Amino acid sequence: MKEYPKKENPFKLLGQHLEAIGTGLKYLVKPTRITLMYPEESMVLPTGYRGMIRLYKDVCIGCTLCAMVCPADAMKMVTEEGKKLPMINYGRCVFCGFCVDICPVDALKETGVHDAAFTNRRELIFDPDKFSQDFDQPPTMDKPVRKVRAKIDEKKGIVYEPDD
Ligand code: SF4
Ligand code: SF4
Repeated sequence: MKEYPKKENPFKLLGQHLEAIGTGLKYLVKPTRITLMYPEESMVLPTGYRGMIRLYKDVCIGCTLCAMVCPADAMKMVTEEGKKLPMINYGRCVFCGFCVDICPVDALKETGVHDAAFTNRRELIFDPDKFSQDFDQPPTMDKPVRKVRAKIDEKKGIVYEPDD
C-alpha cells in the first residue's frame, strides 16, 4: 500500500522560513561578494582540467583516430596541401578528452581555456589553422586575466585570494 509522507510540523516550517529570511537580511546589511568579477578575474583551474583543445599541426600524422573516436561527431578530417588534419566544431564537442587520449603522437593538448565567447555558430568551427592557435587567454580577452583561488573563511564564507 502506498505510504503518504507525514505532514511537516508547521512551527518547524515557520522556523526554517525565518532562518532563510534572516540569512537574506544578514547579507543585505553586510553584503559578501561570492561571485567573481568575471571575466577580469577567474579561478585557477585544477591540473588536468579539460578545456579547449589545441592541435599541433606539425606533430599530427593524420591518422584520423581522433575523428573516429569522437562520440559527439565534433571532429572531422580535412585535407590541406595533401595532408590530413582534424578540425573541431565546439558547438558539438562535449570535452570528453577521448581525442586527446587516443592521439598516438600527442598532437592534441587540452588547455585551461573554457570560456571563449562567440557571436555566431560558424565561429565555433575551428579549421586546422584556428585549431592550432595558442590559447594562453580566452580568444576574446585582450588583457591578462587575474587568477584567484577560492578559500572558505568561517566568518565571511567564500573568499578569493590572488594566485601568486
Ligand atoms: S573532446 Fe570529446 S567530444 Fe570533443 S572533439 Fe574530442 S572526442 Fe570529440
Ligand atoms: S589522432 Fe592525433 S595524429 Fe591522428 S589525426 Fe588526430 S591529431 Fe592527428
